Amino acid sequence: MPLSVTIVGGGPSGCAAAITLAKQGVRVTLIDKAQFPRDKCCGDGLTTGALRILDELNFDRSQVSDWQPCDEVKLRTPAGRMVSLDLPKSNGLFAAIAPRVQLDNALLSQAKSSGVDVREGTSFQSIEKNDDTIVMSCITPNGDTVTLESDFLIAADGMWSPIRKHLGVGLDNYLGEWHAFRQYVSNVTGEAREKLIVWFEPDLLPGYAWSFPLPGNRANIGFGVLRDEAHGVQFMKKVWEELKSRPHVVEALGPEAVYEDRHTAWPIPARVDDATKAVGRVLFIGDAVCATDSLTGEGIGQALLTGQLAARAILGHTTDASRVCAEYEAMIDHHFYADHRMSRRLGRVLAHRRGAEGALRIVDLNSWTRRNFARWMFEDEPRAALFTPRRWHRGFLRRPGAFVD
Ligand SMILES: Cc1cc2nc3c(=O)[nH]c(=O)nc-3n(C[C@H](O)[C@H](O)[C@H](O)COP(=O)(O)OP(=O)(O)OC[C@H]3O[C@@H](n4cnc5c(N)ncnc54)[C@H](O)[C@@H]3O)c2cc1C
Repeated sequence: MPLSVTIVGGGPSGCAAAITLAKQGVRVTLIDKAQFPRDKCCGDGLTTGALRILDELNFDRSQVSDWQPCDEVKLRTPAGRMVSLDLPKSNGLFAAIAPRVQLDNALLSQAKSSGVDVREGTSFQSIEKNDDTIVMSCITPNGDTVTLESDFLIAADGMWSPIRKHLGVGLDNYLGEWHAFRQYVSNVTGEAREKLIVWFEPDLLPGYAWSFPLPGNRANIGFGVLRDEAHGVQFMKKVWEELKSRPHVVEALGPEAVYEDRHTAWPIPARVDDATKAVGRVLFIGDAVCATDSLTGEGIGQALLTGQLAARAILGHTTDASRVCAEYEAMIDHHFYADHRMSRRLGRVLAHRRGAEGALRIVDLNSWTRRNFARWMFEDEPRAALFTPRRWHRGFLRRPGAFVD
């Protein structure tokens, strides 16, 4: 019998794991409770790290009709100073915006064409057995309960991870480290039409507001804050209405901008160091392992990477579950822990107005700092690369971007 893996969740993490495993001949079944195309509340921003993994997966970006490459970035400091940063304009892609409704649908289609048995509208219900194989039951679109037996189960089931809850390995009342709002805007005529803008608003620090450009004079705009008692959902609702009328936001979007539909909001989990990575034959990936960057809240690149790592751990040790789990935990340590600690430290600097202003002054010292900060911010290199010599390489911040023709 070939090795078999069941994946719960068809977002970027689940698809990256599915595609990687299917390419190696593993029998993969992927279930998702949603029918695709489905939206996911997100800024839709792809960092260099995310783009490089999509490229490695042979992702066909032409399947995302609103794919928007981006090389011009503007930061607004808490004091209102603008800092302009340029990403390289040639030698590959360093940042792009891809609406999640399209990106996730294209990734799931790629999984299907790689041979993955994709079952949409099918919800995880429970795990019946987790020893020499794993047996999971799920509910199909017509309400039937079916069981799926496989060698491993990958939980790619997002921030709320019903699998984590079912196995009792999550934190009680966990609501995520960040909370973020997002809305699409049309008729954008200001500089947000072409530029990616980040506003470091004094009342949101270390959080920020963003506007990410999309084709057809549209933009994805939103903001995220660290969740604490002072920054609950009521605070956020109030800020959101008021943020949209701040003069610099109105100016960036232009006077004719029209907000589409209603805003959506979702938590962001960023505590990979604390999260359970694996139990028995179950491996957690993406938001289910709380892998987002605690500095920026970016999680698509992290979701893709954890998906690849879980697949590699399974492929490396096949039937020995304890070695698969140990290998996966070691990989997460190697790829995430130092960066996570670094992001946390930097987050503490950005939490204060003077710290944020000072940090952005250093970024704006000269063309070298601006250029390299932009590449670092977009995860061209790991966050803590400077402090982890094991990850140094000759082409530091000089590598080509993704999708070099
Ligand atoms: C407002 C906001 C803005 C963000 N902006 C960015 C950004 O610009 N760039 C960036 O890199 N990251 C961003 N993120 C983070 C990013 O969205 C996540 O980190 C990423 O989506 C994680 O991918 P995933 O595959 O782990 O989970 P998800 O994309 O959440 O996918 C989980 C899947 O599991 C399925 N599922 C859940 N429960 C079940 C069940 N019981 N049975 C079956 N299926 C189930 C869901 O239907 C879903 O399809 C943002 C997040 C928020 C909230």
